Amino acid sequence: MPYRAPVTDITFCLDHIVGFDRVQAAPAFGDATTDVVQAILTEAGRICEEVIAPLNRAGDQTPAWLENGVVRTSPGYAEGYKAIADAGFVAISADPEYGGMGLPLTVTTAVNEMIGGACLALELNPLMSQGQIEALEHHASDAIKDLYLPKLTSGEWCGTMNLTEPQAGSDVGALTSKAVPNGDGTYAVSGQKIYISWGDHDMAENIVHLVLARLPGAPGGTKGISLFLVPKKIPDADGVPGVGNTLSVVSLEHKLGLHGSPTCVMQYDGAQGWLIGEENKGMAAMFTMMNNARLGVGVQGVSVAEAAYQHALAYAVDRKQGRTPVGDGTGCIIDHADVRRMLIEMKAEIFAARALTLDLAVSLDLAKTGDADARARAAFLTPIAKAYGTEVGMKVADRGIQIHGGMGVIEETGAAQFARDVRVTAIYEGTNGIQAMDLVGRKLMDGGTAAFALLDEIEDTAEGDLLAAAKALRQTTEDMVALDMNDRFGGGVPYLMAFARVLGAHYHTRAAATGDKTRVSLAHYHLSRLLPEAHAMMVQARCGSDGFYDLSADDFAA
Ligand SMILES: Cc1cc2nc3c(=O)[nH]c(=O)nc-3n(C[C@H](O)[C@H](O)[C@H](O)COP(=O)(O)OP(=O)(O)OC[C@H]3O[C@@H](n4cnc5c(N)ncnc54)[C@H](O)[C@@H]3O)c2cc1C
Repeated sequence: MPYRAPVTDITFCLDHIVGFDRVQAAPAFGDATTDVVQAILTEAGRICEEVIAPLNRAGDQTPAWLENGVVRTSPGYAEGYKAIADAGFVAISADPEYGGMGLPLTVTTAVNEMIGGACLALELNPLMSQGQIEALEHHASDAIKDLYLPKLTSGEWCGTMNLTEPQAGSDVGALTSKAVPNGDGTYAVSGQKIYISWGDHDMAENIVHLVLARLPGAPGGTKGISLFLVPKKIPDADGVPGVGNTLSVVSLEHKLGLHGSPTCVMQYDGAQGWLIGEENKGMAAMFTMMNNARLGVGVQGVSVAEAAYQHALAYAVDRKQGRTPVGDGTGCIIDHADVRRMLIEMKAEIFAARALTLDLAVSLDLAKTGDADARARAAFLTPIAKAYGTEVGMKVADRGIQIHGGMGVIEETGAAQFARDVRVTAIYEGTNGIQAMDLVGRKLMDGGTAAFALLDEIEDTAEGDLLAAAKALRQTTEDMVALDMNDRFGGGVPYLMAFARVLGAHYHTRAAATGDKTRVSLAHYHLSRLLPEAHAMMVQARCGSDGFYDLSADDFAA
């Protein structure tokens, strides 16, 4: 089943759900007229359908490989990447001073969703560059910006992010990579990084690594981490890549899915690097990149969910099995009530997750225009969008397998690839557990102000079941704020998911208000079947860690 880019659904969300017109009204985004945005979405949809989607199976079947120290990419990936870069999709939101389009992140988010739906493994590459561009725009010196940003925005060079080390995964503060001043303003960066997405490849002239490392005498933990830019090939003053830096790819990880995306073990041996931002303030600079990537990864979940849904739907309208309860009884499996249940659940979840990611993107855009409320709103929505978007990706891909029956686990149908590819999205960019801890920890540090502001918005128009759920969530938020931190952490994931359910119902209610038959139906499903789950999640959230430590580690093994 060929991928069909969901331009219409995305446009519906922009026009009717997330208030994108507020972004368009901001002077900073004056170029983002409806005509321009539609032209970009339509062209992105076309490229995704015609050029990118056909690469998805190729990447799965012929994973990237390491050849004489260089990563070779899956068949067709270089052409696919070139189509993305040539269309300017790496730099939709990048600064026009360095060649970007300067358009809202919301437009990038919509385009990324389609590229990821067409081929997730390939989309991860421009996503990394986009995060790096934003980090450099905010934290790099003018000299670094002048040299690197034009190449990154054009897509001639690609960016990576290097945080993880064997002993430092979720606990980034445990990293031990070192950077020693060379005496000429540059640094010698040494250490090993693991799981580095697109750490090397043959699709670009140069690869620019952002690497977290410690300076001599730096404090322990996250307070002693600095950020360095380490190019694969050191460019001359004109931006011509010259001598190779002292870094190498040790090996590629063999993964469950996402085979087209090379995940590298990187070795830095005194590689020449440039400090980005201030000494020991590397986490702040990296957070610019990580927040961008958290939205981007939440979107990846939506991407795969949409593709897996389309795939399952095509199977359901074709496969005949048993007597169906409608028509003359000889219909296809889509006419069985349980298959319908799965399909409508998938469609309802995709809509809610898409609306949430676009809502977050709009808040981030408004925050850029100086709107402090939008900034707080975006900070609160970020972990929810990352975790819920990716949970929807996994759930929908899994339902897609179920709809295929036995064919779902036969690789030739392609249904299983979606589930394998999307699985890691719940793990990288901070596991979903870490997202929930961020939500109930840092994001409730304000005593619930940001959460209550969101609930005010929802309650403003809510009625009936949605109003009751929003009020229950308000009470649960007050209860969470009163809990000690480990109890909050114990209830973090159910709290996050309850919030996502209530937000989802809010978006669906807005959609139904347009009177469109499909939207009304989906909203009915969400409010009657999915929203009630929020109450059970809130019970779990309020239980905190109660009982979790009754069993010792030995008891678990007994
Ligand atoms: C395919 C792939 C691509 C990746 N790409 C990159 C990349 O480009 N750059 C990069 O730097 N990294 C990358 N990563 C690394 C990724 O970000 C980490 O895997 C992730 O942060 C989790 O770290 P970990 O694997 O060490 O798991 P761990 O941190 O060991 O976590 C194991 C489990 O324990 C839980 N846990 C850990 N600490 C806590 C805590 N304090 N409280 C509660 N629960 C906790 C986690 O939620 C998880 O369930 C990638 C990983 C993969 C698999």
